[in-house]
Amino acid sequence: MPSTSPAQLPSQRRVARSFTRALRLHCPNCGGGPIFVTWSRLVPNCPVCGLGLERGEQGYWLGAYFFNLMAVETVFAVWVVGFLVWTWPSPPWALFQASTLILMLIVPFAFFPYSKTLFLAFDLLVRPPSEEDFILPHEQSPRIRRGRQ
Ligand SMILES: [Zn+2]
Repeated sequence: MPSTSPAQLPSQRRVARSFTRALRLHCPNCGGGPIFVTWSRLVPNCPVCGLGLERGEQGYWLGAYFFNLMAVETVFAVWVVGFLVWTWPSPPWALFQASTLILMLIVPFAFFPYSKTLFLAFDLLVRPPSEEDFILPHEQSPRIRRGRQ
């Protein structure tokens, strides 16, 4: 097992840049895009650098689902505490139930693409890309193809 020294850790600037690109729904590796065909579907490779976005693994997005679950649970915890603190001592329970249900249906869908790009950014920092990640041929996003016609 290779040892990890502080010199091998990514710099704060690289981490910030990678996650900023991910939050803009662009490729965390190069900042290129667009990398989404629809709200939930990615192109197989980054249209600029050619990075295979699933990094050649079946079930790669399990980590993204974990990121999405953590985001939903964080929003839920902040919502519950915030709502109860704001409305205490007599919280309107029916409003609380309805609004919580709606919030818990919207947040996973709204956060879905971000969970994918943030997980990809995290994975690229933990496991830097190798040549194998760029082997697959480039495929352009339909939005780019339409723009050039
Ligand atoms: Zn890229």
